[in-house]
Amino acid sequence: MAANKPRAVVSGGAGFIGSHLCEALLARDVRVLALDNFITGSPQNLRHLQDNPDFEFRQADVNHGVFIGGDVRYVLHFASPASPPQYDANPIHTLKVGTLGTMNMLGLARAKNATFLLASTSEVYGDPLVHPQPEGYWGNVNPIGPRGCYDEAKRCAEAFAMAYHRSHEVDTRIVRIFNTHGPRMQISDGRAVPNFMAQAIRGEALTVYGDGSQTRSICYVSDLVRGVLAALDKSDELPVNLGNPEEVTVLELAATIIRLAGSKSPIEHRELPVDDPKQRRPDIARAREVLGWQPEVGLEDGLGKTLEYFRSVL
Ligand code: UDP
Repeated sequence: MAANKPRAVVSGGAGFIGSHLCEALLARDVRVLALDNFITGSPQNLRHLQDNPDFEFRQADVNHGVFIGGDVRYVLHFASPASPPQYDANPIHTLKVGTLGTMNMLGLARAKNATFLLASTSEVYGDPLVHPQPEGYWGNVNPIGPRGCYDEAKRCAEAFAMAYHRSHEVDTRIVRIFNTHGPRMQISDGRAVPNFMAQAIRGEALTVYGDGSQTRSICYVSDLVRGVLAALDKSDELPVNLGNPEEVTVLELAATIIRLAGSKSPIEHRELPVDDPKQRRPDIARAREVLGWQPEVGLEDGLGKTLEYFRSVL
């Protein structure tokens, strides 16, 4: 490992977005130490990086403290269950990684005089009453509902980042990540894109929750990671939305995936989960202005690439 290159610590490095981020950092000549406890991440996501001399992996739970020797230039906190069924299955762990895990990663950044970046989420807006969602909107979150463990943990994580910035002058960033998809998404994580794609490929019915009129705006992972790196480069502690503002209803998403897959699958409606946000679309004016960033991959192009990936693993 060349010691003159800057070094990044990425928690959740074996996750879907985390693994793409490790790759992008290595491509910028940054050494990477990825941490993961494999609650939702997978060693498979990092297998292609294991022979890279600038890459290291350590199985670790950041909730229990993070002790790392040597220099660290960047600390990126991406560890957390992130799909509704996953955080519903691990609510205490989800709360801990957003709160204690964030505090520990901020402590590491402080000790190393490193730049800290928090992977926050559009879930901080809850079931939003303002549409599209600008960063200035404070949100509409049910703290005691099934999504509360994730939403409130991430809101607390943001408060932690701001407190370390204000009290300890840690150089912090907060990115609010909207729905993202791409290769290495877990086929069984329960989200709409993997569910619909697996169902379409297998010729099973696509399970649309509720009447499917709820909306989402989904971003392809390469665009998202480019946005994260742009945020890392820009000294600005205030949150910035990263997502694709191309909004679709869930029913439209299902129909598009059936068409792209050339599938004959029907659509079946299932009960709408509790507190499922009715609408979601990022206002990316701030990302455009501050980071000079916007997504480049259109909805169907991105879905086509993700579909290709799921075909290759199914
Ligand atoms: N959804 C659906 N069928 C599925 C999985 C999800 O209709 O098999 C809906 C879900 O109710 C939500 C939207 O698709 O309205 C996006 O869900 P996802 O879990 O991908 O992410 P969320 O944005 O809700 O965190």
